[in-house]
Amino acid sequence: MYWEEDIKRELAYLDEIFQKRHLVTTEFAEQPWLTVNGHKMLNLASNNYLGYAGDKGLKKAMSDAVMTYGIGATASRLIVGNHSLYEKAEKALVNWKKAEAGLIINSGYNANLGIISALVPRNGFIFSDKLNHASIIDGALLSRAKLQRYRHNDMNHLENLLKKVPLESRKLIVTDTVFSMDGDFAKLEDLVKLKEQYNALLMVDEAHASGVYGKNGEGYAHFLDLQDKIDIQMGTFSKALGSFGAYVTGKQWLIDYLKNRMRGFIYSTALPPAILGAITAAIEKVQQDTERRALLQQHALFFRKALT
Ligand SMILES: *Cc1c(COP(=O)(O)O)cnc(C)c1O
Repeated sequence: MYWEEDIKRELAYLDEIFQKRHLVTTEFAEQPWLTVNGHKMLNLASNNYLGYAGDKGLKKAMSDAVMTYGIGATASRLIVGNHSLYEKAEKALVNWKKAEAGLIINSGYNANLGIISALVPRNGFIFSDKLNHASIIDGALLSRAKLQRYRHNDMNHLENLLKKVPLESRKLIVTDTVFSMDGDFAKLEDLVKLKEQYNALLMVDEAHASGVYGKNGEGYAHFLDLQDKIDIQMGTFSKALGSFGAYVTGKQWLIDYLKNRMRGFIYSTALPPAILGAITAAIEKVQQDTERRALLQQHALFFRKALT
């Protein structure tokens, strides 16, 4: 039984170096004060930046969708799971992001896995910031393309790596816009210059910027007015937008291709109506919530100052 022994030894090792993970029962994480194992604590750990996870109007949009359309999509979107709420949500998405086309995907993790592995061929190259989210790395590994990780925000390092691959090969540069661990920003202006110079596609992950940056909460690319120069913009509905799921926007050819080649889209059941109801309502709400966005920035500034 070496399986069991080996795995138990590995778990014991993780425990020894204080890296063994445990689940703790958490309640009211959608609120400022949550309970962890029954203890009341101030919640500084959620991604619910605008408080949408507990919002009354969004809760109602979600329950209305359940009562009208049921609890499940019953199949993938290409079979019979493409309920009319998808059309509504994707229309709202494209209007919000001012994009040519858009697609809703089952989660941010799935989106990065699916987009990157569908798009980059085995003989292609992926240039990824060292601090990018795990889902980006996993998508790159799944594509079997050559993965080149550049030092965090180091544009010279990236350029050196770009120089070394043939100009005509397929290249994807991919970055978080707001980095999930440190909260710092990608150098999007420089990345746009490099992607143009070296004939690469540029993909950004707006998971932590969607709802938070940009005049209407469209993300950090819009905040810098670079949205038309970035080929692939993905983000999530699971952080500031409060519920679950992800999106990708870009040119029509990109979205058409993903519908045909993204395996997580083709072979996985569509999102439940409730989620689509919440997504559509959150997209509409977030565009109006300028004051809440400003308040979030005030809180962040206050907390950073207090820490230093
Ligand atoms: C959270 C996160 C994801 C994953 O999104 P989920 O919807 O939680 O699967 C992807 N990328 C980044 C940068 C994230 O922070």
